Amino acid sequence: MENKYADLHIHTDKSDGSHSPEKVVELAQRSGLSAIAITDHDSVEGIAQAVAKGQQLGVEIIPGIELSAMVNGEDIHILGYFIGTRNKCFLDQLSFLRQKRKERAVRIVEKLNSLGVKFPFPDLLALSASAAVGRMHVARTLLARGYIRSMPEAFWRYLGRGKPAYVPKYKLSTEKAIKIIHKQGGIAVLAHPYVIKQSGMISQLVAEGIDGVEVYHSEHPAAAARRFLKKTKQYQLLVTGGSDCHGDLKGKTIIGTVKVPYELVVRMKQKAGGNAQIN
Ligand code: AMP
Ligand code: ZN
Ligand code: FE
Ligand code: FE
Repeated sequence: MENKYADLHIHTDKSDGSHSPEKVVELAQRSGLSAIAITDHDSVEGIAQAVAKGQQLGVEIIPGIELSAMVNGEDIHILGYFIGTRNKCFLDQLSFLRQKRKERAVRIVEKLNSLGVKFPFPDLLALSASAAVGRMHVARTLLARGYIRSMPEAFWRYLGRGKPAYVPKYKLSTEKAIKIIHKQGGIAVLAHPYVIKQSGMISQLVAEGIDGVEVYHSEHPAAAARRFLKKTKQYQLLVTGGSDCHGDLKGKTIIGTVKVPYELVVRMKQKAGGNAQIN
């Protein structure tokens, strides 16, 4: 098992990444990864394609998802791993969340229009196609139309929380997000805790049944990772990590720049198997 690594947080163009699932798997193989998790926002649509490509190229694909919950007005992301991807009720829930994203995108565009930032809605739809539409698609449209000079500018000027074109997402509780993941036989993991401003989130989530914490992430400084590692020991939680690669949308493609030893994947599998028996 030595020298086997996994990147456990990657987006495809089925949500707000820029690469197709196949391309993601090719890049993973070229980076020497043994396994990757596809964790699109509110969608499992990219997983079958990734699995097929992974079989060709010898890369293990872990079926995943990233759900957004709202706690005190703050976006808390919950990752799901080793989830079943065929249950009709689950797929309907995801379609509902994607529909809510579309309605939100319409409201974001209306707000931008009223601020004098005008572009036709079809521009946005052309970019998001069948994907779970989000603020990254809006940011790309603003960039393409010359309203901003960089993706971060879209967020600090217009789309971020408290900014003039901010529209909150559909409100899922963290408890519900964890339940949805558990119901599909998966394990639930708190994503990028470093970006969360309110304190006490990990202990709240432990009470709600969270299984792990994303200790390693492209936006986590080493000291933060050490702090979260301690928390996982304190609460006996699984440790995960990943790049949160969105393709080339946030600069260069970062697949594999954050990776964890495969041993951690083995532990996640064991826990998922245990959860499935409780269900
Ligand atoms: P959404 O799911 O539509 O709320 O969009 C979330 C996406 O926007 C995630 O991929 C984040 O990485 C990205 N995002 C959120 N805030 C910022 C920010 N301040 N700068 C750059 N990207 C951001
Ligand atoms: Zn994203
Ligand atoms: Fe996230
Ligand atoms: Fe993500």
